[in-house]
Amino acid sequence: MNVNCEGCAGCCIDWRPLADSPSDHERRGPGKPLDGAYNFVPLTRDEVARFVERGLGDVLTPRVWRVEEDAPGVVVDGVRLAALDGRPAFFVGLRKPPKPVAPFETETRWLRTCAFLDPETLQCRIHGSKRYPTECATYPSHHLDLGVETECERVEAEHGGERLLEDTPEGDSDGLLLGPQAVGAKLFGYPDPDDLAGVVDRMRRGTLTDTDRAAFVGVAAGSHPGSLAVNDERAATATAAVLDADSWAGQAIDTWTEAAGDDGELAADPPLAATVEVARGAPETPGWDAVGDGPAAGSDPENR
Ligand code: SF4
Ligand code: SF4
Repeated sequence: MNVNCEGCAGCCIDWRPLADSPSDHERRGPGKPLDGAYNFVPLTRDEVARFVERGLGDVLTPRVWRVEEDAPGVVVDGVRLAALDGRPAFFVGLRKPPKPVAPFETETRWLRTCAFLDPETLQCRIHGSKRYPTECATYPSHHLDLGVETECERVEAEHGGERLLEDTPEGDSDGLLLGPQAVGAKLFGYPDPDDLAGVVDRMRRGTLTDTDRAAFVGVAAGSHPGSLAVNDERAATATAAVLDADSWAGQAIDTWTEAAGDDGELAADPPLAATVEVARGAPETPGWDAVGDGPAAGSDPENR
């Protein structure tokens, strides 16, 4: 596998506003995500716990799915949610606030962008660190493995250029936890659906609160791989840690969100990433001259 990531970050940015034919690849299956995110990055339980321990729980957010009547599910706020043994199923992934970015040599626009993407270099601030998600480290190799379209090819089709330079999958995809082994390790079950009354409605409207997100993150951190059991004490500790979190990334999400125009709107004179992110403690990225082609490379000295 060989990819040309310079000036791209198509897998880290919701660039649908820049596409003539926006992809709906995440919404073609039997379950439709209730959130509007693009290229959601699901994290493993251990990854969730690591973010929380490092004070970065405020960058995490859940995903649940709406299913049809004939699928296993449970109804909350009038929505039939995919469920595991009566428990609403969910992923935990990374938040995507609007940031001023200019992928594919376009003008700078407000686009939903991973909390960890440096909006100026379009490189990942946690690449190579202990927090770098398996999902990102194996992208797009696991898509090649499964024979499904990659984001690199979608970018090529819409914006030209060559992104996927060589398409032999690399490494193994075992860490991706597809299928039943995902339960409790990457796909979690929310213990009491009644607790989600109101939350599901806010998720649908894109207005989840910090408390809503923290509850899901806590359950994920307290889960046991291979089962739906949740360690209540570990879950409560993680939930409290998320509510206490005040990371550079969480603060930056708030600042970007306050400054942003509508999705896809030109960003005239936006705040600088140096001020919004680096000044608050974000790891800097090296720029492309330093790394050449390859996945969005960044640096995170604290955790290498
Ligand atoms: S992996 Fe593909 S989509 Fe992601 S930044 Fe690289 S070329 Fe673009
Ligand atoms: S963690 Fe890094 S590589 Fe993964 S989506 Fe975010 S910016 Fe992209």
